[in-house]
Amino acid sequence: MPLCLSVRMSDIFNERFGKLMKIAIDGPAGAGKSTISKGAAKRLGFVYIDTGAMYRAIGLAAVRRGIDTADAEGVKSILDDVDVAIRHNENGQLIFLNGEDVSTDIRLPEISVAASNVAVIPEVRLKLVELQRKLAADTDVIMDGRDIGTYVLPDAELKIYLTASVEERANRRCRELKEKGVETDFDAVKADIEYRDKNDSGREFAPLKPADDSVYMDNTDMTLEESIDKVCELAQSRRVGNKV
Ligand code: C5P
Repeated sequence: MPLCLSVRMSDIFNERFGKLMKIAIDGPAGAGKSTISKGAAKRLGFVYIDTGAMYRAIGLAAVRRGIDTADAEGVKSILDDVDVAIRHNENGQLIFLNGEDVSTDIRLPEISVAASNVAVIPEVRLKLVELQRKLAADTDVIMDGRDIGTYVLPDAELKIYLTASVEERANRRCRELKEKGVETDFDAVKADIEYRDKNDSGREFAPLKPADDSVYMDNTDMTLEESIDKVCELAQSRRVGNKV
């Protein structure tokens, strides 16, 4: 009888207080991180956090105020007045800039470059990393970005470095933009991706690079479903107590 009781209590303990799981997905622009993370989070019942949207929100704030995003001092001068917040609804993550929903505006191609420029500035990163860690603190989470496994969540149970050839990434981005009715030019999209890859990997503070303990996943020849399956399989194998 006492044995039964102790077994049941430990089951309850594991069920209620089981360790939370963090999944970090990093990689270059256009590798499909957001779509794959969103799909895997839905299947696993995790919260999905898109950190790129936060850098985009600060890039947008700077552009709207007429600040050259390559001017670090100019960008830093507005940081105290910029409030970035995220909320989730049934379609995923919404991003707010000083209380305004800017989820659509941050997707404009010129904001991609602005985001990459402001992301070089350590003060911008430190402000957003604080928010990112708070958001991940008490939930099962899949977070995607450039420095999640190396800097934001170094203790994540699963880290994936997701990449694909630059041609394939540019193709995917073109298709995505076309679906949204945005005119595209393949060479311009490819040049934008290459610019961001260089900026993101070349910066001094928290650059884009695979974490030493990450799983390297090149999905050039994989379908979206195959990529989501792979992430879920890896999550399953790393889950403490296999609760997934
Ligand atoms: O992921 P997404 O392409 O939306 O990110 C926009 C830009 O934000 C990236 O090009 C990168 O410069 C920056 N970023 C970053 N660190 C992250 C997420 C995004 O530097 N964790």
